[in-house]
Amino acid sequence: MEVEHACPQCGAPVVLAESDRLLSCPFCRVRLYLWSAEVFRYRIPPAPAVNGRSDLVYVPYGRFRGMVFDLEEPDQGKERVLDTSFLAAPAALYPITLGLRPQTLKLRPAFFSSADRCLATRIAPEHRPLLGVQTPSRPDTPPSRPQRRTTVTVGEVRSLIYAPFFEKRGRWHDGVLNTPLGEAPAGSPPPEYLPEAEKPWDLHFIPTLCPDCGWDLAGVSESCLLFCPQCRSGWEPGESELQRFSFFSQPVPPGRDDYFFLPFWHFELPYAPADYFRLPFSRLLGLQAGQSPPWQREHGRGDYWVPAFKISPRVFLRLARTATQAPGAETDLAPLLPERHHPVTLPAAEAQRCIEVIQACLDREAIVLESSRPRIEDGDWEKRLVFIPFLDTAYELIQPRSRLGISKNCLNLGKYI
Ligand SMILES: [Zn+2]
Ligand SMILES: [Zn+2]
Repeated sequence: MEVEHACPQCGAPVVLAESDRLLSCPFCRVRLYLWSAEVFRYRIPPAPAVNGRSDLVYVPYGRFRGMVFDLEEPDQGKERVLDTSFLAAPAALYPITLGLRPQTLKLRPAFFSSADRCLATRIAPEHRPLLGVQTPSRPDTPPSRPQRRTTVTVGEVRSLIYAPFFEKRGRWHDGVLNTPLGEAPAGSPPPEYLPEAEKPWDLHFIPTLCPDCGWDLAGVSESCLLFCPQCRSGWEPGESELQRFSFFSQPVPPGRDDYFFLPFWHFELPYAPADYFRLPFSRLLGLQAGQSPPWQREHGRGDYWVPAFKISPRVFLRLARTATQAPGAETDLAPLLPERHHPVTLPAAEAQRCIEVIQACLDREAIVLESSRPRIEDGDWEKRLVFIPFLDTAYELIQPRSRLGISKNCLNLGKYI
């Protein structure tokens, strides 16, 4: 799907893919990063014959594109790409998905005027994980046992798309296809509109100049982190500004230029691994203080490595598992930006969801004591970005330490996930 933005500097139309965050205007050459604290909101423009009607109602649809991993059989090839949309309003009259509508027309950012009517967003419980929305717990109901999740979604696109509809002679019509839908079922509740206060969508345009040296930051259109090619600093777009973030890379022998670096998120519990083993356990196993028990060593010492870039789900999981199990990846790190590296296209928050999947894979391979398992749901992980060197051969990138190989073709296709 494509989105037509208006360049905030010169007003020229700039077409981006739905997952793109870096806007480069071909007319005035400004480069801006699009940032929002909420999910991105788009609207589908109405058909030309319908455009300008004053009775249009915009109905919200949730949209998800990303990877789905199975937690019960995580290593049985059930991982897949999911590309879906779903009605995010209670009305029974409207189509339950957007179908092909957004592909026929270019989407626009959803900036509504006070005259526009939009239905309030109501997301069904089964769709909440796809939009990254927590299920609200009601204070008046007793706390229920949390349901065991069976899948984990790692999103690339999570957005709300508003589609236009209108009523003509008592019948509702689709504002994109200009066709009738049918009649509202008798006794259906009156539509609940989006309150005026919730209509404005806070989309920030952040200039991509290095705050340290003023150089143009480097990044591809779907980058979520930007790097300065001049002073080698790293920047994360945040509310209205760029925030500095630190990164590391594993050094390679001097004088070698046949290495290409892939970015990984390294997640670690903020306390020493030995701390979460109760002492009696360690004594029982005859371990010295600070020494990890054997099953924990197999488990990568309670730390996890997840690719910080998009790639097919099967390769993604294989990379995450192998990197997590490979020993010593966190040693000898230097705060250096490698010359040749792959862009960071998967934010840490999305990558972090994968910890549960990696743990599920490892659980099937070794005996794990319940008490030794890190509490994944706590969310108090320390994270850092690490560039890992891969030997650049004709068709493959090969990690010398873990012998992990990845085809270059597969890496290039990753951007189409
Ligand atoms: Zn411009
Ligand atoms: Zn700089």
